[in-house]
Amino acid sequence: MGGSNKPELIKDGKRLDGRTPDMLRDIKIEVGVVKNAVGSAYIEWGNNKIIAGVYGPKEALPKHVQDPERAIIKCRYAMSPFSSLEEHGRSGPNRRSIEISKVTKEVFENVILLDRFPGAEIDLFVDVLQADGGTRAAGITAASVALAASGIPMTDIPYAVSVGKVGDMLILDLNKIEDNYSDADMPVAIGPRTGDIMLLQMDGNLSRDEIKKGMEMVKKSGEYISKLQKDALKLSYERILEKYK
Ligand code: ADP
Repeated sequence: MGGSNKPELIKDGKRLDGRTPDMLRDIKIEVGVVKNAVGSAYIEWGNNKIIAGVYGPKEALPKHVQDPERAIIKCRYAMSPFSSLEEHGRSGPNRRSIEISKVTKEVFENVILLDRFPGAEIDLFVDVLQADGGTRAAGITAASVALAASGIPMTDIPYAVSVGKVGDMLILDLNKIEDNYSDADMPVAIGPRTGDIMLLQMDGNLSRDEIKKGMEMVKKSGEYISKLQKDALKLSYERILEKYK
């Protein structure tokens, strides 16, 4: 946010990477990239490259963390040491990664039918191989697909994306340079079936009206992101069916 030598982020209505304000970066999702996970997904979202893996449900350990009524989710978001130009993540979890792990876990507490698995844990790993802004949103989007692929019962398949502001202009899906110099950044996760908001964070300030408009941009792009998630899942099932032909 802010800072000196601020680059001109918008010129003639276009962003530095050529996008219009309401345009997403290119997104590709692939299911089943980690052999030993129960469910996994790989996402390329602009220059972000992220793998999500799901393990369990299995007996929660140590025993004192068990909830006799429902499963617990353990989530660990991590950036690999080579994921970004700056130094980070070398000595394990930091404040930021602990926060992102927490908010990611909370997204899925809304949709997983945890009471089907009393005493169990579900492990969710989000590993950022390459980072370029918006990794929490891309990570949540991939984790949703990994969870759906794992067959763990869920009421919805959430997606996430960020909306932010440069000067007076709202922009969708901020990349790193936009994130660094924007006037506001609001990552949002939504369950498309119910429309429930499962993550809402904000860095900087947006007016009530801007939040409303920003949410409209998020929801519009969400129809597309959601379709990509479902298409990736469908393709993975089709591949399984192919094997039995
Ligand atoms: P998000 O990735 O969800 O946008 P932030 O807003 O905290 O999360 O970070 C924006 C971007 O800044 C990240 O995607 C990443 O490219 C970069 N970044 C964040 N934290 C670090 C760090 N500790 N070291 C290097 N790069 C980082």
